[in-house]
Amino acid sequence: MLAEGPRGRPETGGRDERAAGRQIVLAMITDADGRLAFANGDLLALGGWRWSDLSGRLWHEVLIAPEHRRRVVRAFDRAVTGKDGAACVEAPLRTSDGRVRMVAWSNTPSLDEDGRPTSVTSVGVDVTRWTEERDRLAAERDFDASHDRLTGLPNASTFRWRLGSELSAGRRLGRSTGVLLVALDRLRTVVETLGQEAGDQLVAEMGERLSDCVEAAAGAIAGRPLPPATPSGAPQPMNAWMVARWSDDEFAVLLPGLVFPEEAVYMARTIVATVAAPCTGSAADLRLSAAIGIALAPSDGDNPATLMRHAAMAQHAGRTSAEHMVRFELSLSQEAEGRLLIEQQLPLALERGELSVAYQPEVDAASHRIVGLEALARWHHPVLGEVPPVRFIPVAEEIGVIGEIGQFVLRSAVRHAAQWRSDGLGDVRVAVNVSAYQLTDRSLVAAVLECLDETGFPAHLLELEVTESAAMVDAQAAAEVLGELARLGVTISLDDFGTGYSNIGKLQNLAVSTIKIDRSFLLEDEANPAADPGALLHAMVTLGRNLGLRVIAEGVETEEQLNRLQPQGLDAYQGFLFSRPVPAAEILRLLRADRPLGSDSGTQIA
Ligand code: C2E
Ligand code: MG
Ligand code: MG
Repeated sequence: MLAEGPRGRPETGGRDERAAGRQIVLAMITDADGRLAFANGDLLALGGWRWSDLSGRLWHEVLIAPEHRRRVVRAFDRAVTGKDGAACVEAPLRTSDGRVRMVAWSNTPSLDEDGRPTSVTSVGVDVTRWTEERDRLAAERDFDASHDRLTGLPNASTFRWRLGSELSAGRRLGRSTGVLLVALDRLRTVVETLGQEAGDQLVAEMGERLSDCVEAAAGAIAGRPLPPATPSGAPQPMNAWMVARWSDDEFAVLLPGLVFPEEAVYMARTIVATVAAPCTGSAADLRLSAAIGIALAPSDGDNPATLMRHAAMAQHAGRTSAEHMVRFELSLSQEAEGRLLIEQQLPLALERGELSVAYQPEVDAASHRIVGLEALARWHHPVLGEVPPVRFIPVAEEIGVIGEIGQFVLRSAVRHAAQWRSDGLGDVRVAVNVSAYQLTDRSLVAAVLECLDETGFPAHLLELEVTESAAMVDAQAAAEVLGELARLGVTISLDDFGTGYSNIGKLQNLAVSTIKIDRSFLLEDEANPAADPGALLHAMVTLGRNLGLRVIAEGVETEEQLNRLQPQGLDAYQGFLFSRPVPAAEILRLLRADRPLGSDSGTQIA
């Protein structure tokens, strides 16, 4: 670190000279043509010159390196002719052995009676060490302004700037530029449950993984290695990939000079796999997933703002796609407008009484009689019409109204079920879906208690459905909330079983009593007739049985599916074959009829 002078300014001059108590001061006098008439001992010593090397020569030809000459001479001229007043001129002084010292010169001309300089006296101070320190600090400041502190990656504005340059270069060369917008799913939940530090650690780890994986994949693309990125800090060469931190939970990847769109897709696929690998540190139990939006210039946009907006729309679609990534297409733009409308309207839906609950029967596997009812949220908007839950539930989670919606469904379901029970329609279980966000919130337990108290509905007839991934986000916090609910006597089921990233070992730790096998397992077998039909189903049913759980198949639509399910020995079925989700009044009718559901019985409701 440089010593500070009395007024906070770094001192100049060499350490040895200061130690010797003497400040080096350089001096030279040049004539009207700029030829050297005098150089003092310090100047000769610093430059390693003899006076005979300098005497009578143009000062800048000897003392200034050719590449700096024009600029320095102009600056000297301006200072001498008074245009910059008494400005001090900083100039690199060339030494006899080719090294460079930075010298700050102050120049005083002697003028003839017409005001023309007859000679110039220049006095200089060696400021090399100070300018080096200043440049280093400036570089650090530049780095801080252009990079993200946590990951050390370029930040969003640097990315935008680079994207702009690459787009212009791409236009000139007729090449495509790709951007990937990578969102880390569930990071918000990690931060809320494990804390900011764990979240930061995870983001830093993901940043490193992404850089490594993009570097490797870029090299592999079509055997046509892209130029590597330079280490952080150094300017990125054009036409090189870049990974940047785009927002709290998003990274942006720049892929310039693409030849085929497939290259961007390949890259996205690699990133999906990289992000899904198990985490380390305090989040070791966790698996994040990525949702990636792909947009390619020029077809998906030809300026940074449009391209990034379209990548963001594609990313939203990527969240619900099986592949975790989607390339932008025009329909997404319309979709995003619809989504925005949902975002605006959803908070009002509860107030305006637009939400209701539909119920779908679960039937006993042997008798096909109703043993349970799944409560499903329904939203009828005066203009948008019926908005399906797959559209509004994720928005509700994002904008933070899922708690209210969840509690509305819970209250309605428990009140209805209590009413049916007190009407003597039997002990029918009612199942309510619970979102991941509700599972980390203690108010769920309070709401459940309140509902049961208010209605006198028996706790064991209330079932809460959680999805595998929701339960596993932070297994410990989820287990605590679920444990508390289980102690109240409420039963827990794992919804969409088989589609999450569950660690089977954890199943035993969660207070789960039922698994609902996702309907994709009924479809997958059909799509893959070569595979042993029912092998996967069989494995899951066996797993459930071994853990002592009730096993339900969701989404039974056809007789054929039912026939395949029957030998598996499940406990119950749910699906359109027996009944679609219907309003409470319709359920009342079905419960009163008390007959088996399904095509055989003729009570199926279309
Ligand atoms: P889920 O909990 O797995 O609910 C079952 C979904 O499958 C329902 O869709 C139901 O209509 C549909 N389904 C049932 N049988 C069949 C069938 O045979 N064939 C086909 N193709 N589909 C069938 P729905 O009502 O659209 O709900 C979709 C998802 O939205 C639910 O999946 C659940 O995850 C979520 N959801 C619905 N209501 C709520 C709620 O109140 N809270 C929360 N957190 N999520 C909810
Ligand atoms: Mg469900
Ligand atoms: Mg389900």
